[in-house]
Amino acid sequence: MTVQAQILDLISTLQGEFGTTVILITHDLGIVADVADQVAVMYGGRIVEQAPTGVLYDLPEMPYTLGLLSSVPRMDRELLERMQPIRGNPPSPINLPKGCVFQPRCNYWERVPNGACLDVRPELLESDPEHLVRCHLTVEERQQISRDVKQVLAGAPQ
Ligand code: SF4
Repeated sequence: MTVQAQILDLISTLQGEFGTTVILITHDLGIVADVADQVAVMYGGRIVEQAPTGVLYDLPEMPYTLGLLSSVPRMDRELLERMQPIRGNPPSPINLPKGCVFQPRCNYWERVPNGACLDVRPELLESDPEHLVRCHLTVEERQQISRDVKQVLAGAPQ
């Protein structure tokens, strides 16, 4: 952790010195929250959601991002409630599903009409001008799901 903090400090110093953009590739959501201005979440080799960091952490819309943020261990919970893992495994890059790459692990694909998640690869589209999402659900559906999950994780009554 100490070395990690030193390296992040060094990157920040160099960024200030050279006035450059830094692209940081990491699985550590804590680091992302601390240092990034913009976040691009990738799944199956593609960007599935992109937004300013505050927006993405406050109201993630793509079910994979929602799953990632929900699976951060919570030390204020009982042992069996500390993590809400994403079921299943990532797809093989040489055998990606035909439709949405996240479909086999998604809890919401049956809400999309006509089985589109099984057959049609979603495009990365604007949810608002700063927020891009790759998902067939409507913006309203995604935001409602995100609020519902947040409420459950906060332990509030449903
Ligand atoms: S497109 Fe369908 S399967 Fe993919 S994340 Fe959205 S709801 Fe889930």
